[in-house]
Amino acid sequence: MKVAVVGIGAVGSAACRFLAEAGHTVVGFERFTIGHGMGSSHGESRIIRYAYPEAHYTQLMGQAYPLWDALEQAAGEELFVRCGGLFFAPKNHPELTSMQQALAVNGVAHQLLSAAEVAERYPALVLAEGEQAIWQSDAGFLRAGAVVRAQARLARAAGAELRENIVIESLEELESFDHVIVCAGAWTNTLFPESPLPLTVTRQQVTYLSGELTGYPVWIDAESYWYGFPSDGRIAGVKLARHIPQVPFAPDQPDRPTLTSDDDAARAYAATRFPSLGPEVTHHASCLYTNTPDESFVFDHPRPKTTRVSACSGHGFKFSILMGRLAADSATK
Ligand SMILES: Cc1cc2nc3c(=O)[nH]c(=O)nc-3n(C[C@H](O)[C@H](O)[C@H](O)COP(=O)(O)OP(=O)(O)OC[C@H]3O[C@@H](n4cnc5c(N)ncnc54)[C@H](O)[C@@H]3O)c2cc1C
Repeated sequence: MKVAVVGIGAVGSAACRFLAEAGHTVVGFERFTIGHGMGSSHGESRIIRYAYPEAHYTQLMGQAYPLWDALEQAAGEELFVRCGGLFFAPKNHPELTSMQQALAVNGVAHQLLSAAEVAERYPALVLAEGEQAIWQSDAGFLRAGAVVRAQARLARAAGAELRENIVIESLEELESFDHVIVCAGAWTNTLFPESPLPLTVTRQQVTYLSGELTGYPVWIDAESYWYGFPSDGRIAGVKLARHIPQVPFAPDQPDRPTLTSDDDAARAYAATRFPSLGPEVTHHASCLYTNTPDESFVFDHPRPKTTRVSACSGHGFKFSILMGRLAADSATK
């Protein structure tokens, strides 16, 4: 089959690779260069985890993990840093309770730790006495930008034609293809004027503060939605950010500004949780969330021979390889 893929970010690069490796004729179109910093998939790290308050996401991750392992092997480079994950909140917090249930129902081994046990294992992290944590060893982080580049490289090696710096203005341009997969991230609605989705694009900032956390897990504060990473070995400092959608942002703006107020908020949070980190910002960057009202993903067929897919809402990277796989399957079934 001859398949067009619009958008070569996390989902698109995965779809191109799977289609090309299955022997299909694939042409991918990317409005910028592959690995650019204007969408949602750039940077050093995205959290990967089974631990979710919703059991269906935990279950879906059971399908995504083997795909990540296989990608890493095929790429021959480290794309997944398996450092474990710590998810904390006040005792009996509903999100923590649901996470524990979701892990248990799906048979994923985990441990519940008291604040004192966390302090013993990870002395740089401060939990209050009334807080507790779930430890899960399969969590870690994916090297996001490297994942996109590796998938694109493997897709090309398998015969895909990936065209960069080309904007698809309308799907009518692609009528010669047997199927079109649209994974255009923040630009999704521009290609479906007749069937737009309730998507809100927001600018989100990540901040690296001076200091080092080597041998630490990824972590999520399930009460405040701050989250962070250990030292990633690539960018100096320690990365943290908050998973709360910010104000709407038009993706066609020419830049992705960073705000001092966002860095200040990260510094204030770190002062209470990681007092050993310094106040200096060693790096910061902005990136786009494409939010659905309930934070779920998009996977539908709004036109004949067309699959619309978005691993959106700020938690989709870990699922993007699975979304690419499912999109490739749906295009060629
Ligand atoms: C700050 C931040 C932190 C995050 N943290 C996590 C995390 O810890 N864990 C996690 O799992 N997820 C996380 N996410 C979410 C995750 O990164 C995204 O869900 C994922 O990257 C989305 O991938 P995508 O392929 O849908 O979009 P993108 O990677 O943006 O790809 C869309 C591509 O389509 C191209 N394009 C658009 N329109 C056209 C057109 N008309 N013609 C040609 N090309 C076009 C764009 O240029 C872009 O390259 C985070 C996101 C952000 C912003």
